[in-house]
Amino acid sequence: MLKNWAVVPTCLPLVRRRCHACESERFRASGKFRVNAHHKLLDAWLLALCITCEETAKLTVLERVNVRSIRPELLDRLHNNDPGLIAELLQNRAVQRRNRVSLDWEGAWRLDTGGSDGVDDEVVDVSVRFAARIPVRTVRLIADGCGLSRGEVERLIVEGKLVSGVRLSGRISGDFTFTLKR
Ligand SMILES: [Zn+2]
Repeated sequence: MLKNWAVVPTCLPLVRRRCHACESERFRASGKFRVNAHHKLLDAWLLALCITCEETAKLTVLERVNVRSIRPELLDRLHNNDPGLIAELLQNRAVQRRNRVSLDWEGAWRLDTGGSDGVDDEVVDVSVRFAARIPVRTVRLIADGCGLSRGEVERLIVEGKLVSGVRLSGRISGDFTFTLKR
């Protein structure tokens, strides 16, 4: 039996960043951009709010970019606070690096397994697809999807009954497959 699982976001992840006004280390996207044009140069920030004190943080998206070099479609989306663009930019590695932030996906994703049909078969092949690069503990994911405890999953790995082309310890954030034999 071949099963297809999907790891999908359920809401926007939080942004890991220390707040200067309080001791919090998490911000949430405010849903708004700030765009500032000076002569022909344009700056754009993604605004985030401290989850504890609502202090605003500005995440740089564009810095002193010539207006004419920006696609009109992108400008429209910035001016309209496009939610899809906010989700895209939060997950953009260059934006994360530039602003020295990372994402906290805790409670912001779910695993779709398409039901439990076939998980008790003698041999089950599972293909796991990630709709976003969400780092999840591989053992926890397999345990949740198969209705097993983490201890049981770890035992199956040791016994060679649960095999994969990827390392099953630690976290994973991209597509993989595994086979479960009983
Ligand atoms: Zn704060």
